[in-house]
Amino acid sequence: MPLEEIKSRIAKAEAKAGRAPGSVQLIAVSKVQPNERVEAVLEEGHRCFGENKVQEAAGKWPDFAERFDGIDLHLIGPLQTNKARQAMELFNSIHSVDRPKLAKTLARLAQELGKCPDLFIQVNTGEEEQKAGVMLADADAFIAECRALDLPVKGLMCIPPVDEEPSLHFALLAKIAKRNGLQGLSMGMSGDFETAIALGATHVRVGSAIFGARTY
Ligand SMILES: *Cc1c(COP(=O)(O)O)cnc(C)c1O
Repeated sequence: MPLEEIKSRIAKAEAKAGRAPGSVQLIAVSKVQPNERVEAVLEEGHRCFGENKVQEAAGKWPDFAERFDGIDLHLIGPLQTNKARQAMELFNSIHSVDRPKLAKTLARLAQELGKCPDLFIQVNTGEEEQKAGVMLADADAFIAECRALDLPVKGLMCIPPVDEEPSLHFALLAKIAKRNGLQGLSMGMSGDFETAIALGATHVRVGSAIFGARTY
């Protein structure tokens, strides 16, 4: 599906939800996609992209950044502390802050580097054992801990369980954000971004609907 079509679906969903035009940012998730496809989307003028692995992003984005101005790169996958420095140098936003050890590492590096990407705290709304994200019962305390470390927390992120109605998870994430005074909501993917926008998403992460299926 062409980029323009996704953008117009986002615009319609914004209007339907009574949200301001342009209030939802489209993160084009380029993980695993061949460089030609990513380049085609860059040529169309899009600049906001998401990757889920630091190593993979480091292998392709510095080259793109030399050729295209104003790239806005988001890390949407889990982050190990030993890759935190590299991630902070490469990404403009990190959506997967989910544990005290990582938060403390980011805070230390922010001091050292004199800058920090915008941060989103990932919440494990489905309480799935294998999934990243802070558990529901720990979310408020962890948000407070990140703020006490002076980290630039912009909002929350979730990935609903594949076999559940995503709207319940989006509504829950919005509720946690609201009671903590956070504006940003990173939620919604190819199959459900319009639902996420109806429930307040500020950032939607759309991969296959833009680039086509990923072949691993
Ligand atoms: C891959 C990925 C996406 C994009 O998924 P699509 O279904 O291709 O839109 C969104 N968010 C995260 C965290 C991902 O890893």
